[in-house]
Amino acid sequence: MELDSIVEDQDFIEEALKSANIPALIMSIVHMTGDTRILNGDIKPRFVDPVSAGSEASIDEDMGEDGFTLKEMEIVRRWALDAINQYRTAKEPLPELAKKDIESMLSYMCGQKLSEEYRSFIEEEIGLDGIDRRGINLETPELLSRARSFSVIIIGAGMGGILASIRLQEAGIAHTVIEKNTGVGGTWHENRYPGCRVDVPGHSYSYSFEPNYDWKHHYPVSEDIRTYYERCAKKYRVDEFVRLDTEVVKAVFDEEELLWRVHTVGKNGIEEILSANALISAVGQLNRPRFPDIDGLDDFQGELVHSAMWPSDLECSGKRVAVIGSGASAFQIVPEIAKVAKHLTVFQRSPVWMFPNPVYHREVAEGHKWALRKIPFYSKWYRFGLFYSAVEGVYEQTLADPNWNSPLSVSASNDVMRENLAMWIESQVNDQALLEKVLPKYPPFGKRILQDNGTYLSSLQKDNVELVAKEVNKLVRNGVVCGEGNVHEADIVICATGFFAERFLYPINIVGRGGVTLSDQWGVDEGRAYLGITVPNFPNLFCVYGPNTNLVVAGSIAHNAESQVNYIMRSVKLLLERNQAAMDCRKEVYDKYNAEVDSINERTAWGAPSVNNWYKNSSGRVTSCLPFRIIDYWKMTKKPDPEDYLFIDQN
Ligand code: NAP
Repeated sequence: MELDSIVEDQDFIEEALKSANIPALIMSIVHMTGDTRILNGDIKPRFVDPVSAGSEASIDEDMGEDGFTLKEMEIVRRWALDAINQYRTAKEPLPELAKKDIESMLSYMCGQKLSEEYRSFIEEEIGLDGIDRRGINLETPELLSRARSFSVIIIGAGMGGILASIRLQEAGIAHTVIEKNTGVGGTWHENRYPGCRVDVPGHSYSYSFEPNYDWKHHYPVSEDIRTYYERCAKKYRVDEFVRLDTEVVKAVFDEEELLWRVHTVGKNGIEEILSANALISAVGQLNRPRFPDIDGLDDFQGELVHSAMWPSDLECSGKRVAVIGSGASAFQIVPEIAKVAKHLTVFQRSPVWMFPNPVYHREVAEGHKWALRKIPFYSKWYRFGLFYSAVEGVYEQTLADPNWNSPLSVSASNDVMRENLAMWIESQVNDQALLEKVLPKYPPFGKRILQDNGTYLSSLQKDNVELVAKEVNKLVRNGVVCGEGNVHEADIVICATGFFAERFLYPINIVGRGGVTLSDQWGVDEGRAYLGITVPNFPNLFCVYGPNTNLVVAGSIAHNAESQVNYIMRSVKLLLERNQAAMDCRKEVYDKYNAEVDSINERTAWGAPSVNNWYKNSSGRVTSCLPFRIIDYWKMTKKPDPEDYLFIDQN
């Protein structure tokens, strides 16, 4: 993306720099001056553990960013101002930085020397040289001509589907995107409940090649993310390939013609069968809302809603509202409803761990937006900083120590985190009875840890709010019942009870070779795939965000989507190069991979036997989560190994 030129006056720039990110600014100074001495001075980022820093009684809003002191930050801003002035008066191209300089910059940002593979991973992710390495290049006229007779159907126009369409367009491959909703954006089109926002930083929750300098919030609200994807779909002409309001109900691999026959139902129930060489599922893991499995859903006479199907005209003001659930959705809904409801009852089966995060609801300062848009390389390094701390940050603390023997934590370092997170909760709750209810009794990372600025627990302590720490097992005409207890009367019941996450591609009927269906091969909730992408007996079926690719910690799912689409595009290229019709994952490769996935997942906090979560299926196997570091998954998905596949010749 081209940067806008810097035309503002000194006062403006000085003011803007007050809200710029210091490590990213230091990197920009090096780019603008070509001088790397700053990297060897005394001013260095120091790792500040956000959990222990934030858990002590209150969040210190004045804490220097990345461990810089306020004085050091001031010095860096002065250097930056000088560098900007020099850069804009010189009106010359920026100095070329040598490879070793970039290496020093990476080491400075990370506080350690990075391995060669890590460096190339980062080079690709942030593309300092402006090269986007994740599309495919079809170099020869022959390949280009084969590409013209290859076609793809993509199911879903969310983050993954839009990305796949962008890459297929770049390669000149015909495709259609089938989207069941009335607009693009996937989960962000669907989830419109009050308070809905993403809980990873927006500046890393976007495509690497399409930064958004205008995020209003550090953790953008649903509407802004929807707008981002709508804008991407328009800018990259994806909307010309999408059929909205159309649902894929069945897809059959035609073994004679070696094509996928995709059955769709459009508006007004009109059925159609489309054909393509390959099928990409980009349906997401969280797109089929699940109401609680309880009696009486039809008996309730008030309004019954699911968090992911929020009626635009739902009016909670002055009403008696019940929220069932205390996961990520409820955590955001509850504070909003507590502001307006006459009475709010929250039904919590299990409490959640939460990370102290002072900027969770904060708007991005205008100066920071200006820096992202105008200072050379600033936005790239800022994204890298977010990315690196999330990728490396806490992975070790999620892994179980086999010799650790406690239901509350899975290792010594996980236990330290538990103590710090518990302190953060304790600091917010005075009432001992409430504290007993909201303090989790399972290891951190057993479920998703939610970003928190104190809003949730303070709303639970409002006069109009009651927390019932019980499982709901019935709705009746006028409210909610737990066990044999009384009726908690309600006018509105909100089910923030999650999704059919363990049923991949549900409810689409996918039929592969020999008439085998995915659900037969897997069992109802046993989704597995090689690299989360391919499944034996289903040639040329590729999944984005498929089984075992969800991130509990460590980075943004946008990065994983790029890795998966990269692998899929290289698989298509492999087919074109070999001039073969289809590729089918070898069963032994798939089995070996899944055995490894299972063995690591079993040794994580989310796989611990004592923990219940939506990552596990009914038999306790973790079907949702990626057990690897992002760097390892990136390496695995860099390109397909032909040895992993059986190839089917053209007819
Ligand atoms: P969820 O995490 O599956 O939470 C469902 C909640 O409903 C859980 O608290 C569950 O309790 C509870 N529940 C289910 N049946 C119940 C019953 N009969 N009585 C009482 N409680 C019951 O669903 P979610 O909150 O929609 O979140 C799903 C995922 O979506 C998240 O993990 C996250 O990946 C994503 N998400 C992200 C964001 C974000 O980025 N900010 C926001 C929303 C969702 P148990 O915990 O005991 O099972």
